[in-house]
Amino acid sequence: MYPSIPLVRPAFCLFLPLLAAVSVSAKPTTLADFQAEAARSNSSLTLPTYPVTPAEVKQQAEDAIATADKAFDALAAQDPGKLNFENTFVAYDAITAKVGNVYLVLGTVAESSTDKAMRDMANDMTVKIQEWNVGLDYREPLYRALKTVADAKPKLEADQQRLVDDQMRSYRRAGLSLSPADRANVERLRKDLAGLNTQFAVNINEARAPLDFTAAELAGVPQSFLDSPGVKQPDGRYRVMANITWHAQAIGENADNADVRRKVLTARCQLARLTNTPVLAKLVALRADIAQRLGYGSWADYQTEIRMAKTGATAVKFENDLVSGLQPKFDEEMETLRQLKATQTGDPKAQLEMSDVPYYTNKLKKDKYAVDVEKLRVYFPYQATLEGMFAIYQKIFSLKFTAVEPPYVWAAGVQLYVVQDAETGVPMGAFYLDMFPREGKFNHFACFEQRPGQFRADGRFELPVAALLCNFPAPSADKPSLLKHADVETLFHEFGHVMHSMLSRSRYVAQSAFNVPLDFVEAPSQMLENWVWDKSVLDTFAADYRDPSKKIPAETIASLVAARQATEGYGERRQLSIGLLDLNLHTLSADDAWQADVVKIVNDTTARVSIAPPPDTFWAAYIGHLAGYDAGYYGYLWAKVMAIDMASVFKQSPDGFLDAKVGRRLRDEVYGKGDTREVSESVEKFLGRPRSMQPFLEYVGIKK
Ligand SMILES: [Zn+2]
Repeated sequence: MYPSIPLVRPAFCLFLPLLAAVSVSAKPTTLADFQAEAARSNSSLTLPTYPVTPAEVKQQAEDAIATADKAFDALAAQDPGKLNFENTFVAYDAITAKVGNVYLVLGTVAESSTDKAMRDMANDMTVKIQEWNVGLDYREPLYRALKTVADAKPKLEADQQRLVDDQMRSYRRAGLSLSPADRANVERLRKDLAGLNTQFAVNINEARAPLDFTAAELAGVPQSFLDSPGVKQPDGRYRVMANITWHAQAIGENADNADVRRKVLTARCQLARLTNTPVLAKLVALRADIAQRLGYGSWADYQTEIRMAKTGATAVKFENDLVSGLQPKFDEEMETLRQLKATQTGDPKAQLEMSDVPYYTNKLKKDKYAVDVEKLRVYFPYQATLEGMFAIYQKIFSLKFTAVEPPYVWAAGVQLYVVQDAETGVPMGAFYLDMFPREGKFNHFACFEQRPGQFRADGRFELPVAALLCNFPAPSADKPSLLKHADVETLFHEFGHVMHSMLSRSRYVAQSAFNVPLDFVEAPSQMLENWVWDKSVLDTFAADYRDPSKKIPAETIASLVAARQATEGYGERRQLSIGLLDLNLHTLSADDAWQADVVKIVNDTTARVSIAPPPDTFWAAYIGHLAGYDAGYYGYLWAKVMAIDMASVFKQSPDGFLDAKVGRRLRDEVYGKGDTREVSESVEKFLGRPRSMQPFLEYVGIKK
């Protein structure tokens, strides 16, 4: 997961210090040594200045905005005859990058400070910077200065031209190229849209669906659920809140009574139906209307223009191709589940309903693919796993990580590492690790960019800094922290984001690591998840902490894979049903969108791609992504399919997932390039062939 929305179209210039061959003399061991080494290779390793009081938080944000405002005014006030690429587009990138740096640091403070007052102030200030950022696209004088240069078509290198094109595209998307009257209309519609997006989310948050059942009706549901706070009612019945996901799952996967499962699923699929059906219909129409006014065929065309997919039609085709590709596996799985139902009910003609799927999936996994994931923890003590992962990333990317004493940390236990190129010793960046839970800290797992790599005014390359905020189980007095296999997968994923940040080498911040298209940004990390399913990778570090000679048995790994694959066809088709209902709502023309029957579109798509929803329901009303990630849900699978395609190149290479030659190519062609060119080009250069969904189909369990 990557939490912060790329804030600014941010960055700065001069030429890349492409690994100037610096000989590794005395081995640096302290931060100061690395900083000196960086200086010798024309770069700079500077850690962010972390504020330590709420007043400093406020000061940093206000200073950043004031400085940027002044710089933008000066930029726009330049003599039009003297405008050039450097003093407009490059300057713009540098100004926004500076604000971006503060935003990233304050975003981290908001999620990691041990002091609530600090977190609250940092939250307020990041919102303030975001609001400031939204207004940037609408500054007319700034737009005119940049447009003057863009229209003059100066001779530029490819990444520079891309910077110009992307910036002008961003203005066009904001409506700046429309007549004042048309623009005013679009702005008015956008305000309505923002209000409706919020309304949609509020209606979801407020939706409640309590259902009470007797103990007998809940036969099969784990006692731990029945004992959970708030479940048992004074009248002796048990309250299931269909709006709480884990409640709905506990029933859906375990309740033997089909009526109970159906009731809970129906209630869940009716959440926010009355309030959000009209809101969604209006959202769909407004979006199509705005898209048309801005010159797009549909909202999906508008949204995908800045992503890899580029058009709504490409995204739809991708999803439909996957639907067909998965068909044999999906049919087979559904028949397996149907037979389980036939056996259990004694009705050979039993038909599978949506509310049966989680139940029989769970049954299948328990009966046929029993893997006790808890037992696997002994193979993954935290420290050995971390070091094992480091060794793998160091090998495949030709890097070296060294722990150094950090000058400042925001909480006890936070560590700092410096990354060097293994061959030249040149420092590449630094990362913090903040790996265990504590009160008030961000409670998921994510990479927080602290500072993207960027050129400074003096021509030096400011090295990237990143931080991992994770919540692995803390070690106890007598036992090390033991990770689940899923935690190890998360660790490999999140550290992939750190690598992306460390290895990106673009001239402009707007084209750095995390500023790649949204339907790509997760792919490099998703790719690295594949490593932890491979025995030769696991054997390099996973060993029973009580007896390190014991490795994970091959058949255990095979069972893990089999369990994952058992119902993966259904799982992916369910994802596709959301992706496609989202696209089907957002590929409508403006005329069609005002007439559209959103309920029919959603329910027909769901029935075609996954399984028919219960009658008289509208589950899209409770899919939060439809307001905020609209025409974007396809991106999850888009990135996943590409990630597995990329992983397959490693798989087929001589050293498999540990192949340094392939790793180097990934570093140079994908990570290193950032958004300096089309990501599809970077990916194909890495693959050495066109993209393919075949490796994904094999991953799901479809044999060639
Ligand atoms: Zn991620």
